Amino acid sequence: MAADPIDIIRRNERFIPGGTASSARYLPEPIVFARAEGSRLWDVTGRSYVDLNCAFGAILLGHRDRRHLDRVAELTEGIDLIGLGTTEIEGRLAEQLCDLIPCAEQVAYCCSGTEATFHAIRVARAATGRQLVVKFEGAYHGWHDYVALNFLSPADQIGRPAPITAGALASSLAATLVLPYNDAEAVEDLVRRRGGDIAAILVEPQMHNVGAIQEDADFFRTLRRLTDERGIVLIFDEVVTGFRHALGGYQSICGVTPDLATFGKALGNGLPISLIAGRRDLMRRFAPRQMGGDVLLGGTYNGHPSSVAAGLAVIEVMQTPGRYERLFALGDAMRAALTRAAQRSGSAMQVVGFGSVNAVHFAPAGPRRYEDLVGNDSELDSAFRLGLIERGFACSPTPLRRFHVSLAHDESDIESLGAAAEEVLRGVGERRAQAHRRKAPATASSVT
Ligand code: PLP
Repeated sequence: MAADPIDIIRRNERFIPGGTASSARYLPEPIVFARAEGSRLWDVTGRSYVDLNCAFGAILLGHRDRRHLDRVAELTEGIDLIGLGTTEIEGRLAEQLCDLIPCAEQVAYCCSGTEATFHAIRVARAATGRQLVVKFEGAYHGWHDYVALNFLSPADQIGRPAPITAGALASSLAATLVLPYNDAEAVEDLVRRRGGDIAAILVEPQMHNVGAIQEDADFFRTLRRLTDERGIVLIFDEVVTGFRHALGGYQSICGVTPDLATFGKALGNGLPISLIAGRRDLMRRFAPRQMGGDVLLGGTYNGHPSSVAAGLAVIEVMQTPGRYERLFALGDAMRAALTRAAQRSGSAMQVVGFGSVNAVHFAPAGPRRYEDLVGNDSELDSAFRLGLIERGFACSPTPLRRFHVSLAHDESDIESLGAAAEEVLRGVGERRAQAHRRKAPATASSVT
């Protein structure tokens, strides 16, 4: 007999806060996933879904990719977490990363994107002796107190500090200044006034946490120039873009090399690995105290052999000729299918994206920063997402969250997504029109 999702959810809610391991995983529907393979997920009732979330971008090759799993098993044969000294395998991955990533002279491992941005900021503070950090409105860099503010803020909180969690240390939040993305003048002005107090500027090179907002021409070059002039550490947070857009990260595409960069998600294809990569003079501060380091980099699971093997195996697969072309072609096809669905249904839904990452919004076209999206019709956005989930497409129900494709997706997944999206948009459009008609005052001819 199939398991009852409601029973499982009730039990999980008794023993796990909210019944889920991450608040970003909240689903309003009673769905409990049990299996994953390729581009698909199955719930405990046996229903299948095309996975558009791909674990918020961590799944790059597809779920349980055979080549990846076999290679990880091979590379980890006979080894385990040792937790003393070093292993050959972690050096092998580090060397490859230093060859691939423009800013990487050395890398330091940790397990999540949150840890990576935390350590990057800490080393920037150690190196500069300064306290302030700059982030951009709408960007997400993890949940620690250095960056726990101004992500998906409501309109009335934009332009002032808006914590995303209770319990954050006020002095830590106060040391993080928030500017509008793509606003070179605002950065220039702040750096002119406070540059001597700023340790780091931290930027998602594409604003994927509110969809897919790309940098204006010269924005990163301006950041590079200003940070160079004032001795500020420029950090690219490539936790989403890294390995998904290119093996060298988005920095290898945009042509601006930061001082430090953080990576995670796609490198492990589902296994937990993250890293900080960057200039040797900064990175060497993470060395043990006995070797001259002064920034503590601890972590029982850092450089876990399974995670390191996962990274090596992802790189091996993605270095196979044609892999990025295929991934980008699937992303383009998804964008085209969603755009067609919007046009055919007469919906104002806008489709944006880059490579294998796509997003939709119900706000004016061409956003250049998060502020341009605050008018997003979140009711329509949520209704669209819930409609997709009902039709067997697993995605985040939260407005503005991105969709991903993996190498395991294929044209039939995209085609069926296009058809489902059109049907959902027609349905939500029709419901809107009916609600509008109900609200409209009765006309003379209808009152007989
Ligand atoms: N940085 C960016 C750009 C992210 O999108 C995320 C997570 O979504 C993080 C950092 C935090 O990564 P993690 O969830 O692995 O801690």
